[in-house]
Amino acid sequence: MDALKPCPSCRGAAELIPFSVACDSLWQVTCSQCGMATELEEERSLCISRWNRRDKEQRLGTAVLVLSVCLPAGLALMFMTGVMVGGILLDSAGAGA
Ligand SMILES: [Zn+2]
Repeated sequence: MDALKPCPSCRGAAELIPFSVACDSLWQVTCSQCGMATELEEERSLCISRWNRRDKEQRLGTAVLVLSVCLPAGLALMFMTGVMVGGILLDSAGAGA
């Protein structure tokens, strides 16, 4: 049996919950703390692997988010530095004339 990984958003304990819909039984993994959940799956093992894979996807998403925030900030910093250097050059040119 595959072990459930902790919740990707709050690191809380995950629970595998069986649902009975008509004659079918469906499975869902939910977080006992924040309520984050997978979609309902017919296969118990598929449900577990989806949950465990979501953990990786979540971390990947966070890395992309950090990159997308840092990149514009870095560009803005370069632009600001360029404006400052340009301003200093203009000042010294003006003073010299
Ligand atoms: Zn959670």
